[in-house]
Parts: sequence; C-alpha cells; structure tokens
Amino acid sequence: MRLVILDDYDKASEWAAKYVRNRILKFKPGPDNFFVLGLPTGSTPLGTYRKLIEFHKNGELSFRYVKTFNMDEYVGMPREHPESYHSFMWDNFFKHIDIDPANAHILDGNAPDLVKECDAFERKILDAGGIELFLGGIGPDGHIAFNEPGSSLISRTRVKTLAHDTILANARFFDGDLTQVPTQALTVGVGTVMDAKEVMIMITGAHKAYALHKAIEGGVNHMWTVSAFQQHRQTIFVCDEDATLELKVKTVKYFKGLMNLHNKLVETYIDE
Ligand code: PGA
Repeated sequence: MRLVILDDYDKASEWAAKYVRNRILKFKPGPDNFFVLGLPTGSTPLGTYRKLIEFHKNGELSFRYVKTFNMDEYVGMPREHPESYHSFMWDNFFKHIDIDPANAHILDGNAPDLVKECDAFERKILDAGGIELFLGGIGPDGHIAFNEPGSSLISRTRVKTLAHDTILANARFFDGDLTQVPTQALTVGVGTVMDAKEVMIMITGAHKAYALHKAIEGGVNHMWTVSAFQQHRQTIFVCDEDATLELKVKTVKYFKGLMNLHNKLVETYIDE
C-alpha cells in the first residue's frame, strides 16, 4: 500500500491526474489494447478530472483507446437529471475529452430489470479484460462507491439502499430537500473494485480524517468498507494534509519519507 500525502486538495488532484496520465501513457493503449479505467463521481475527483482535461487539451493524453466503468448510479432518476451520475460524468469529464461514448459505461438506474443490469455490468468489465486502474473516493463513514458500512467485502455490482448519513450528505445536491434524494443506487461491489489491477483512492479534507485512519491503521472491517483495500496488492491512497489529522505521527512520517520515490511516479513520462 502506498500513502501519498500532498499539501492540499489542488496538489492532491494534480498528483492523482499525473499518475493516471502516466499509467495510461505507459500502457500504450491502441485499437487492440484498450486501457480500462474505473471512475467515481463526487466532489473529490473534480480537480483530478479538470487536470486530466487539461492534459488532453494540451495534447499530452488521449482517451481514444480508453474504456471507462463508473462506480455507481442512482435508481429511478432520469438520465438527463442534472444530479444523475450520467450528467455528472458528461458535464465534468467525458464531453471535454475524446472518449468514444460507446466506451464510457455507466450503470442504468432505470433499467427494467436492475439485477440483470448489474450482472451485465460485471460481464462487460470482464469482457473488457478487467479494470487496470480503479479510481475511487470515500465517504466520511468509509464507504467506497455505495458500499455502505456493513456491506460485504466480497460484494459484486448490485442494488443498494443508501445509508441515512449518505442521504443527508447528498441532500446538498437537491436544495437540501431530503424527499428529493434517491434512496437506492446501483453500485459496484467491494469485490468488483478489489478485482482491479490497481486502485487509487482519493481522500481529502479533515472531515475524512477518521475514515483515513480506519482505512489504513485499523483492521480490515466491513463497517469501514474502504479498509478492505489493505488486502489489495496495489492500492494508492492519495490525500491532503487535512485528511491525515487522525493518523499516528509515525505513520505520516514514514510515508512522507517516501515522497521522493512517489514523486518519481508522476514525472513527465518520456517514451523510450
Ligand atoms: P465526495 O463523496 O467526493 O463528494 O466527498 C465521496 C463519497 O461519498 O463516496
């Protein structure tokens, strides 16, 4: 496990975007070799998406041979609704880059058979060759995607009823009106994300400091579903200083001592 600690949100976003850029470039994607990227919504990845768009616009990065799979989508919300995750992804990322819409996969929360929709999503990931890099954020309760506290750590894509805390947190996107916040979502499972070759989890802000502590210093525990990634072969947590407030000083010192090494991973990539 790597823990990368940057000064603030902007620096963390930039580091994460450079890491994604380099992973895609090193992979050398092509028509017979698509890079498969898992993506989150939420406020955390916005800065990373902005930077990736910048890399695309200045010619450093193409998404022509990238396939994406999003973590989740609300149930029963029209796709065109401004708060649907379809709208979020198109407005904040996809419409600014050169991805083929057919390669940007988002669960359909209006499918007539939601269980079938979830099973088909898992199959599509397998057919694409599995996810090379899954980006994720977490909630203050340590949820990853909509895998709320108590979710099985081997769960797959399925219908989930949202925890009350998540509904409260999401009310800010619906003018504070709790009755408008969807109560169910389709979400990849913890097991789905665990199957990715590599996972990058972004955690920023003091309100997530306890979750980061539970994620990396506590034991693996389904009440903090992000802690499952302690048992993943290749996970990078990218955080800002504020998110480290509940960590032990020795944890922070240890990982800060590795920053020189970590920063090599985001140096401008030169094709040899
Ligand atoms: P946030 O949400 O990025 O808006 O904080 C993350 C989450 O709840 O998974």
